[in-house]
Amino acid sequence: DPSAAAAMRGVKAAGGWAVVFTEQCEMHHSSEITPFIELRLWEDKDIPQLARMADEIKAHGALAGIQLAYSGINGPNLYTREVPLAPSAMPIRTFTNDPMQARAMTKRDIADLRRWFVNAFKRSQKAGFDLVCLYGAHGFGVFQHFLSRATNQRTDEYGGSLENRSRFLREVIADAKDAVGDTMAITLRVSLDEVVGDLGFSNDELRDFIQMHDDLPDLWDLAHGTWEDCSGPSRFKEEAAQQELVRGIRTLTSKPVVGVGRFTSPDVMAKQITSGTLDLIGCARPSIADPFLPNKIGEGRVEDIRECIGCNICITGDMTMSLSRCTQNPTFMEEWRKGWHPETMNEKGESKTVLVVGAGPAGLEAARASALRGYDVTLAEANTELGGRVARECKLPGLGAWGRVRDYREYQLSQMANAAVYVDNELTANDVLEFGSEHVAIATGAKWRRDGVSRQHVVPLPVTSGIPIYTPDELMAGDIPSGRVVVYDDDHYYMGGVLAELLVVNNATVTLITPSAYVSDWTRNTLEQEAIHRRLIDLGVDIELNRGLQKIAADHVVTNCAYSNRLSNMEVDAVVMVASQAPNDALYQALMLRQSDWREHGIKSVRVIGDAEAPGPIAWATYAGHRFARELDGPDLGDKLPFKREITALHPV
Ligand code: ADP
Ligand code: SF4
Repeated sequence: DPSAAAAMRGVKAAGGWAVVFTEQCEMHHSSEITPFIELRLWEDKDIPQLARMADEIKAHGALAGIQLAYSGINGPNLYTREVPLAPSAMPIRTFTNDPMQARAMTKRDIADLRRWFVNAFKRSQKAGFDLVCLYGAHGFGVFQHFLSRATNQRTDEYGGSLENRSRFLREVIADAKDAVGDTMAITLRVSLDEVVGDLGFSNDELRDFIQMHDDLPDLWDLAHGTWEDCSGPSRFKEEAAQQELVRGIRTLTSKPVVGVGRFTSPDVMAKQITSGTLDLIGCARPSIADPFLPNKIGEGRVEDIRECIGCNICITGDMTMSLSRCTQNPTFMEEWRKGWHPETMNEKGESKTVLVVGAGPAGLEAARASALRGYDVTLAEANTELGGRVARECKLPGLGAWGRVRDYREYQLSQMANAAVYVDNELTANDVLEFGSEHVAIATGAKWRRDGVSRQHVVPLPVTSGIPIYTPDELMAGDIPSGRVVVYDDDHYYMGGVLAELLVVNNATVTLITPSAYVSDWTRNTLEQEAIHRRLIDLGVDIELNRGLQKIAADHVVTNCAYSNRLSNMEVDAVVMVASQAPNDALYQALMLRQSDWREHGIKSVRVIGDAEAPGPIAWATYAGHRFARELDGPDLGDKLPFKREITALHPV
């Protein structure tokens, strides 16, 4: 939906960002990265959708930038079926190890590519962009491929010395200045260090390159390493993690320098500027979590910033070729589809009162957003603290930043006169009926199952009593086994890996068994799978991939090879079962049985939301909470789609 992407960026501009860039935009059909979804600027026909984005950005006074990418050795060209072109002939480098190769560009190809860039610059200008970013970072982009000795092994004037490897870039920037330089700024995005060993484009070489080309681009845009290095999750990368690699670069050039580093704290941002490290603060994830971050700083409302938690759920949109979503900002990518704004709610409906039961991410967001919409909201929580699963999970190794999901909402609720929060208040169906709010959200969460039911086992696993079986909830509550512990992970997100880490920290000897070929398989989508596996190796965790759990006997477990089904026995002292979760929906079911009593208590609707409806990642829970609030007193859509979509126009026959 190009209009959805345009509206999302317009909202960022409205939130005070000075410059808003597009994502990677493929600038010629001879290089594309299907199945990953990118923008395209291949012909004039592509201009209107990009113009819509530029218009939305500029309508709010920001400058609009377009990031032009020629993927070269990263582009398998599965859609166009063109033979990929690269500085040197090499296998295609993608996340999926596609089994084809690029051919080395001839001088003629290089001249063609320069011309294709000029065409793209002119089209970008027509679309209304103010800046053009040449993408050569993260191992992606032909500029980096020319700069690095790892991917440029040419022996002509485009290879060898740094001066030669920079030649193509110099030529393209000169072409850009000739073509559009009077109206557009030319920015260059490079990695601070390629991090691929001795042949890679190192931080030292980058400094030489910048010194050699001082005022070549109008702005130096510094990213880092691979995408995993640059956009690591908070579990493995701190805010401003690239600081040391950036320090001093600014003195090498007269042009301004922008850098990134999941900046969410205004103090850290200010320090980057006052210490002379950066001229401009670049943010992707922080601008997703809070598109209004700059305005909030400007207005002195720092405590209202919805800080990114560094979970990388947004990145899973790219990796799963789907619509991006955000744990902290449930309105992300719904600005156009559903008309959701990150700061304002739709007008309040006719009802007055809302009761939310359970203060995990779903309940907290349902309460916050309903109160913001103007309802009188009561939030009841059984525990003595708010946060639900987030309060537990943020105490796991490396997940401290996840507590921000609770902190932001707890603070916002504390500021609203029409929101009342009660902790230590476990409600029964009778309590809910007696309370008599017009609308009720049941956000009572879920519990990890002990019986092993998940993907390998759709019915409970055979167990002979003897070896104690622990659930993630018990470990998070501080009941941590010792001795030889097997973590069985048939969940495949972060929980299995992070609990293995917790157990080692608590002196257990840990074996992690998973039927998958990867530790924490789904975290490949959050760019942290390699870091998790590496961490577990470093901690001495024994990792058994492609292995299931067949049976828990009195003094051993029986495991099976996922391919041959060959069995083996393992003596263990405890099993940690990271299987699936069961919704805590007893309260909801009890209320549904008493539907005939609702009217006399003034209840119009009861909805179950979040993990109590269907367990999932935290982002799914905040989304469910927000949706509950948006749809209060809303029309019954019947069989209609609950969102807008854009359909490609048919080509004339
Ligand atoms: P979600 O991710 O869907 O928000 P969580 O498990 O994080 O779910 O949160 C559910 C919260 O609901 C927990 O904090 C739990 O203590 C609370 N809760 C469960 N049952 C009740 C109840 N009957 N009354 C009040 N709070 C409840
Ligand atoms: Fe930050 Fe997570 Fe939102 Fe991405 S999904 S912007 S990492 S909070």
